[in-house]
Amino acid sequence: MNRKQTLHPLLRIFLSFAFVAAIVLGYLLFQWYQRSGQRSTRLWDWLRNSGAYSEWSIDAGQRCGAAPFAFPTDGYIGFLWDDSFRPGHRHQGLDIFGGQEPGVTPVYAAYSGYLTRLPEWKSSLIIRIPSDPLKPSRQIWAYYTHLADSGGFTYIESDFPPGTSELWVESGTLLGYQGNYSGDPNNPTGVHLHFSIVLDDGQGRFRNELKIQNTLDPSPYFGMTLNANDSLGDVVVCEENQ
Ligand SMILES: [Zn+2]
Repeated sequence: MNRKQTLHPLLRIFLSFAFVAAIVLGYLLFQWYQRSGQRSTRLWDWLRNSGAYSEWSIDAGQRCGAAPFAFPTDGYIGFLWDDSFRPGHRHQGLDIFGGQEPGVTPVYAAYSGYLTRLPEWKSSLIIRIPSDPLKPSRQIWAYYTHLADSGGFTYIESDFPPGTSELWVESGTLLGYQGNYSGDPNNPTGVHLHFSIVLDDGQGRFRNELKIQNTLDPSPYFGMTLNANDSLGDVVVCEENQ
C-alpha cells in the first residue's frame, strides 16, 4: 500500500501562486520602502531636530543653476513628485518642511504670474503663468497649499483675500506662511508647503491638481532631482550650487 502523502493538485497550484505572490509583494514593499519609507524616516529625523540636519535644508529664493523657478520657501524637501504615501497613491507635488511652528516660515512666489484664490480656499492659492518658461507655447499654473493652521486660520497674506482673481505678483512676493492645515483639526499634517505645477485645461482654467496626470515633474523647473523615480531615498539638494 502506497502511504506516500501527496498534496492535492489544486492545493499545489494555490501554494505556488501564493509563493510567487509573496515574492512579488516583498519586492513591491522593498521598492516602496526605498522610495517613500526611507524619506518618511528621514522626515521624522528632520521634524524632531531640524538643527542637526541643516545641510538638508534649501533657502527660499535660491535658484539652482539656470533653473527658471526660485525655491519658494525655506526647508527640507520631505516628499517628492510621484512619492507614494500608501499603495496606489501618487504625490503630485513637493512637500517642503520648514522645521518650525505653523505660521513662521515664509512662502514666496517661485515665479511671476497672476494670483487667484477661490472664495472657499483657506490654505491655498494658485498662480497662472501664461507662458511656461520651459515650453513657452503653453500656459501652466503654480499651486501653493497648507498655508493655514490646523483649525483653518489662514496664513495667506491679507493682500490676497478669498476671492482674489488674476492679481499680478512678481517672483519673490511674500504669499504667506507654512501651516499644517489638513481639513481635519484633529489630524493636522506636519508643517509644510505643498507646491505643484498644474496643467491648463486648454480653456484657460487649471486642471484638478489632485491627479498626478494633471501635474508636471517639477525637476527641470527647479534644476533638481525632484522626481521620486529618479531619487531613491536621497536627500535632494541643488547639486550645481554646491
Ligand atoms: Zn504634498
